[in-house]
Amino acid sequence: MKQILNFINGEYVRNTSGKTFQDINPVNGSVIGNIYEAGQVEVNAAVAAAKAALKGDWGRLSVAERCKLLDAVAIEINRRFDDFLQAEIADTGKPHHLASHVDIPRGAANFQIFIDTIKSTATESFNMRTPDGKTALSYGVRVPRGVIAVVCPWNLPLLLMTWKVGPALACGNTVVVKPSEETPATATLLGEVMNAVGMPKGVYNVVHGFGANSAGAFLTEHPDVNGITFTGETRTGSIIMKAAANGVRPVSLEMGGKNAAVVFADCDFQATIDTLTRSCFENAGQVCLGTERVYVERPIFEKVVAALKDRAESMKPGLPFDKDTKIGPLISKKHQAKVLGLYKTAKDEGATIVTGGGIPDMPGDLKNGSWIQPTIWTGLPETATVVTEEIFGPCCHISPFDSEEEVLGKVNANRYGLATAVFTQDIARANRLAQQIEVGLCWINAWFLRDLRTPFGGSKQSGIGREGGVHSLEFYTDLRNVMVKF
Ligand code: NAD
Repeated sequence: MKQILNFINGEYVRNTSGKTFQDINPVNGSVIGNIYEAGQVEVNAAVAAAKAALKGDWGRLSVAERCKLLDAVAIEINRRFDDFLQAEIADTGKPHHLASHVDIPRGAANFQIFIDTIKSTATESFNMRTPDGKTALSYGVRVPRGVIAVVCPWNLPLLLMTWKVGPALACGNTVVVKPSEETPATATLLGEVMNAVGMPKGVYNVVHGFGANSAGAFLTEHPDVNGITFTGETRTGSIIMKAAANGVRPVSLEMGGKNAAVVFADCDFQATIDTLTRSCFENAGQVCLGTERVYVERPIFEKVVAALKDRAESMKPGLPFDKDTKIGPLISKKHQAKVLGLYKTAKDEGATIVTGGGIPDMPGDLKNGSWIQPTIWTGLPETATVVTEEIFGPCCHISPFDSEEEVLGKVNANRYGLATAVFTQDIARANRLAQQIEVGLCWINAWFLRDLRTPFGGSKQSGIGREGGVHSLEFYTDLRNVMVKF
C-alpha cells in the first residue's frame, strides 16, 4: 500500500497524531494509499519552513537563478511524465488521453510560462521636478508577498496546483500547498522533483488533510501566511475569505460556476456539437469551465438536442487506459451521491430526461466505482434547481430562445459568472454578447482554449481576482514605490 506523506522542509514526514485516511481509486473503489493527515503541528512546521526559506538561499537568488530552477522543475516533471500520469490517473480515474494531453503537460508548462512573464514585465517609472527645483525619480519594485497558502480542488489536481505554485515561486515567494483530500498524489510527487532539481528546502511544502478542523483551516488561519490562493467551491471560498480577514491577508479565489453556452441557428453545426460535447461531458463534467446550461435558438433546438443526445450516448465509460474509453468515473462515492441527488431533483421538478439520469451498468469490480451517466434534460423553467445550481457532473439542461435580448437575460440571471461560450457566424453579434455577458471568460466558437498570458478568473460569485500572465504577478507580489530626490 502506498504511504502518502506530508512534504515539509524538503523531507517526507508522517505526523505526530498518527491519523491517516484512505486514498481511493474512483474506478473501482479500491484503496490505493494511506494519507498522513497534517495536524496543527505539521502545518506550523510547514509554514515555519516556508517563512525561514524566504530569508535563506532561496531569498538570495536572482530572478534569473530562480527561473533556472523553475525551468528545471518543468524538465523534471516531463522526464517523470509517466509517474505523474499514473499517479493522477490512479487518484482521479480520468481517461489516459485527457491526463496525458491536458493535466500533466500543463502541469509542467505552468512552471515555464511564468519565467517569461517575470523576466519581461517592467514596472513603471516617472521623472518629476520637485517644488525646490530638484529632480525626483519614482519607480516601482516588485517584492514577494512571503508565504503563500495554496488550497486546491480535485478535478485537475496537478494543473490547478501548479497554476498557482509556478507564478508564486517565479515571484520569489514560498508555498505551503494543501491538495484536495481526494487527490494527494501528484502534489506529493512534486516534492521529489523539487529535491531532484536542488530547490532550497522549505520553498515547496505539502500538507495533507481536509478543510474544517484540519489542514485546510489550520493553514488558512495561520498568522504567518501572507496570502491565500484558492480554487474550489464558492461556499469554501467564503469561509477562507473570513479566515483571511484575520490579519488582513490578500486572497485570490477561483470558484464555482454555472456556465452557459449560447447556440445561434447560424452556427457551424458540427463544430458546435463537437465543442459542446467536450464542454458538457469532458472529465465527466468535472471542469469548472464546463457547460451545464445550453441555450439554443429555436429553429435548431430539436436538432441540437438530438445531436447532443447521440454524443452523450456514445461516451463509453471504462478503464482509463482503454483506448475507447471516453468518460471516467466521478471523483468519489460522495460526489456521485450528490450528482445522483440532483438527477433525482431534476426529475422531481418535471424535467424531460432526454438521456441518462442514472448509473451505467459496469462489469466486475468497476461496479464499485463512482460511475455516472451523461445526462441531458429539457423542459425546465429557469428557476429549476439544476438550471441554477452547479452540479459538477456530465450533464446539461437545454432550452430554446427566440431573441438575443431574451438569452442575454437568462445567461446573466445567475449568481455565478465564470465562463460562457457563444456559437454563431455573426461576429458582430458574438462580440456584442461577449461584452454584455457577466463572466470572467467568454469564448466565441470555442471552449477551454487559453492563452496563459491572459487573465483567468470569475465574476460575481465565481471569484475574486485574476491569475495568468502579468495578472498573477499582481497577486503574488507587493508593488513597492521608491521615490528618490537628487
Ligand atoms: P472544495 O471547496 O470542497 O475543496 C477545495 C479545497 O478546499 C480542498 O483542498 C478542501 O480540503 C479545502 N477546504 C475545504 N473546506 C475548507 C476550509 N474550511 N478551510 C480551508 N480549506 C478548506 O472544492 P472541490 O469539491 O475540491 O472542487 C470542486 C469545486 O471547485 C467546484 O465548485 C468547481 O467549480 C470549483 N473549481 C473552480 C475552478 C476555477 O478556476 N474557478 C477550477 C476548478 C474547480
